[in-house]
Amino acid sequence: MECLFCKIITGEIPARILYEDDQVVAFHDVNPQAPVHFLVIPKRHIATLDDLADNDTTLAGHILLTAQRLAAQQGCSQGFRVVMNCNEHGGQTVSHIHMHVLGQRQMHWPPG
Ligand code: IMP
Repeated sequence: MECLFCKIITGEIPARILYEDDQVVAFHDVNPQAPVHFLVIPKRHIATLDDLADNDTTLAGHILLTAQRLAAQQGCSQGFRVVMNCNEHGGQTVSHIHMHVLGQRQMHWPPG
């Protein structure tokens, strides 16, 4: 198993876990870009957003609602941003889909 995030799921690589259930894990980003920056990932290895299938609708919704709930728990009452980078032009560096959640500072638009 070569996937970094799969190794976080199994505990082979340590991470600051925020939340875990049977479908997803959330943990703090090791290189935070905001005072709050965590990632929500599926436990099943899915490489990119392009690899999500029609029958992943429930999982995709669960990732989003987990992000929403944890953002509130992390004190992002003034707002937050979710980002999913996909493939090279999207800036994806880890090939296991992950939703970034960033908060506790003013975000700007457009992103780089
Ligand atoms: P991407 O560029 O959208 O693929 O985001 C990958 C994210 O994973 C980056 O924000 C990295 O800082 C983060 N990351 C990489 N390795 C680790 C780790 O071991 N623990 C937590 N976050 C990581």
